[in-house]
Amino acid sequence: MSAPILGIDLGTTYSLVSVLQAGRPVVLANALGERLTPSAVSVDSDGTVLVGAPARARATTHPDATALAFKRDMGTDRVHRLGPHTLSPVQLSAIVLRQLREVAEAALGMPVTEAIVTVPAYFGDAQRNATRDAGRLAGLTVERIINEPTAAALAYGLHQRDRELRAVVLDLGGGTFDVTVLEIIEGVIEIQSSAGDARLGGEDFDELLAARLEEQAREAGVDVEEARARARLREAAEQAKRRLSTSSEARVALPLLPGRSGREVDLDILVTRDEAEAAWAPLLPRLRGPVLRALGDARRRPEDIDEVLLVGGSTRMPLVSHLAAQLFGRLPLRSLPPDEAVAMGAAVQAALKAGDASVEDVVVTDIAPFSLGVETSRRHGPRVVGGFFSPLLERGTVVPTSREEVFSPMTDAQDRIDLKVYQGEHALVRDNELLGNLLVKDIPLMAEDRSVRVRFTYDLNGILEVDATVVATGAVHQLVLQRRREKLTGKALEEARKALAKLKIHPADLLPNQTALARADALFVELRGEPRELLAHFIGEFRVALQRQDPAQIVEARERLNAVRARLSEGTP
Ligand code: AMP
Repeated sequence: MSAPILGIDLGTTYSLVSVLQAGRPVVLANALGERLTPSAVSVDSDGTVLVGAPARARATTHPDATALAFKRDMGTDRVHRLGPHTLSPVQLSAIVLRQLREVAEAALGMPVTEAIVTVPAYFGDAQRNATRDAGRLAGLTVERIINEPTAAALAYGLHQRDRELRAVVLDLGGGTFDVTVLEIIEGVIEIQSSAGDARLGGEDFDELLAARLEEQAREAGVDVEEARARARLREAAEQAKRRLSTSSEARVALPLLPGRSGREVDLDILVTRDEAEAAWAPLLPRLRGPVLRALGDARRRPEDIDEVLLVGGSTRMPLVSHLAAQLFGRLPLRSLPPDEAVAMGAAVQAALKAGDASVEDVVVTDIAPFSLGVETSRRHGPRVVGGFFSPLLERGTVVPTSREEVFSPMTDAQDRIDLKVYQGEHALVRDNELLGNLLVKDIPLMAEDRSVRVRFTYDLNGILEVDATVVATGAVHQLVLQRRREKLTGKALEEARKALAKLKIHPADLLPNQTALARADALFVELRGEPRELLAHFIGEFRVALQRQDPAQIVEARERLNAVRARLSEGTP
């Protein structure tokens, strides 16, 4: 059997890897037995890199040595300083991708080299190229980049229905909300519009619930201005939120919170779902807005929509499915785990690409997320004024696509045109983003036809090619995008690879040990008094076992530590 192409959801908070097994997409579990690997990287005191759960657990204890949410910075020049290392978002993503590759190789028992990676529909060229580069650094050829909502539709098999279908994908994650309207006709999935709120997600729900808990804690005499008390309340709010997705009330028990009177306070309160939903009410209009915008852009009414898909961990909240049912007059589809659907869809696409017979053929198209065009000048009487944006491909154009337009020099003495390529939606180029420029030289001064034919070709991976043909001579110029945020060149990639190779990375088989320690350390910081001593005892026991290197003893001590930690963090000693 040859190695399959992996389907990877490289998420802001979590990443997942999936492959098709016996005709169905399966999300693979990592060395901890967890299918969600946190998109987190941390560096410990001896400079060794930790990835996933142990890195996530160090976010509170070692914030300066830990990077989270770097997906937001893909395609920018921002760097993260982690202890002695300076890492780009591409390198950080590569570290996560490499971990996922290892997860897949361990599960499949063979090396893998190819993947399909999902990105948000609104990712532009720079971000898509950065995602590809991260794949290359991780030793994976990114066969295709597909949009997350398209992947969700594939996971739900919407491409296999034999009739025309319109669907809306609502994706509410930890920190972002994306709404996409799709049309599926004869196996072709087309994105019709997308809208969203890049600053709305599960975290906003945590915050509002935490504010409510804080109020009650203050009444109970807790010093809520104290930073650690705040952090614990916030964490408790997130856990309560999750429990309220399946039960109508959740108990919040936080022992030994710092009190205003100097004495410690044991907080033990009950939150009902109704109370929580009342606290979340201000978020409802912010959820509704993008849905209405996306429908408007696609010129659809709610009743035109045949299926509503819920994606992202936060759509587990009943409030979200109620809102969807209210807006669309139908129950949303939620049969797949919402945080796994995108990865599963990527695996379906991977199987399609590999020509797996168990998956029917499908053509995937997308839309260009931005308008792409060139700068042009206009003549105002005797004066020539530049700086105008002339789009060749309008935002929302179905891709892959190719379009040609003819340009001519403005004056008889001009033998060259400097084509400046921009992306954006503004009338003046200075408000848009310059992607690169192409100097078209040697336009014969005396030729009868002095025009230049410019062709823009935009493919499914969001890569733009610009060809310019001088009609009189037939000479062809091609654009090499020379922008700062461009795809890494061979040399830069080699350098990034070398920098990564120098990093010492904890081997994946030690993941359960690192995670147990990091999670216990994180709790240790928060506890006081007796529970803290108890935890310290088991941390010590585990460290001794690690030093002795006796595998059986390590596993036993680890399990004891994990059990104690789980008990203490629930607040039920
Ligand atoms: P994602 O980025 O899609 O993985 O979403 C992560 C977000 O989903 C976080 O804000 C979590 O708190 C939230 N989440 C995960 N499970 C649940 C649940 N059962 N109920 C409510 N929110 C959840």
